[in-house]
Formats: sequence, structure tokens, C-alpha cells
Amino acid sequence: MAICEMCGRVGDLVDSIVEGANMQVCLECSSYGHVVTINQPVVDKKIEREKELKTKPIVEMIDCVVDDYSEKIKKAREKKGLKQEDLAKDIAEKVSVIHQLESNKLKPSFKLAKKLEVFLNITLISQFEQNLSKKEESIDFKNDAVTIGDLLKEDEIK
Ligand SMILES: [Zn+2]
Repeated sequence: MAICEMCGRVGDLVDSIVEGANMQVCLECSSYGHVVTINQPVVDKKIEREKELKTKPIVEMIDCVVDDYSEKIKKAREKKGLKQEDLAKDIAEKVSVIHQLESNKLKPSFKLAKKLEVFLNITLISQFEQNLSKKEESIDFKNDAVTIGDLLKEDEIK
């Protein structure tokens, strides 16, 4: 039968360090300010880290080809008075490529988009914010190997 060494109640006990002594106490007693629990910090640390990741989203700017690229290319080409064939020749691409670009069937590569940007004097590549928090979280927790031994070492340092 598990009896709390502090209050004498019977229930689930946790290993705690009470004023330097190792004791088995109930959850209620382990929550008292002067009790340092061994089991509890493992949970607390993870919750703290999760909170940190949720409140501080990791955002990175990434280059992306704009969604309305086909419209932009078509308008700019027509403005220059060029046929699809002409544009294809000028930027050394196949007519079929220009046709697919303008009919929204082919998203240009960065190389092709940059070539079109320069030749047609338009913007096809734009920066977007990408939230990397979720990725970071999964990586972080894979490498997260906090053991009770580690926590005790940390406590000794403090
Ligand atoms: Zn107790």
C-alpha cells in the first residue's frame, strides 16, 4: 500500500526531493512550493517548450512564383505586340511552353520566370511567409531526449 510520506494519505505517489531527502509523496503534496518533484519537471519542460513554439511561430520568407503568372505573361506579351511565337523565339523557348504558361497549365521554373521577368519587365517571383513551426516542432521532439538523469544533473548545477 502506497502511503504519502508527508500527509499519510493513500494514493498515487511520485518520487520527490523534500528539503534534500528523497520521499514518496502524493500528487497534492508534490505540488507544494517547497517540494521538488523528480517526475513532474519532465512534463513541465515539454509543456513549456510546446507553449514557446506555439507563441513564437518560426516564419521564413520564401520565393514563390505568383499565382496569376499566366495572366501577367499574356498581358505583358500583348502589350509588347508580340505573338506567342515571337516571345518563344526571343527567350529561346518552345511555343508550346509559352502556350502552356499562358493557359495556366505550366508553372514556370525560377529560371524561366526570371527570364520572363527581365524580358517582359514584370514580376513573377514574389516572397511569401512560410510558417515553419510545425516542422521545427517535430524535429525538436525527435531529438528531445530529456531523461530523469539529465534533469537531476541540471538541478545539481543550479
Ligand atoms: Zn500527501
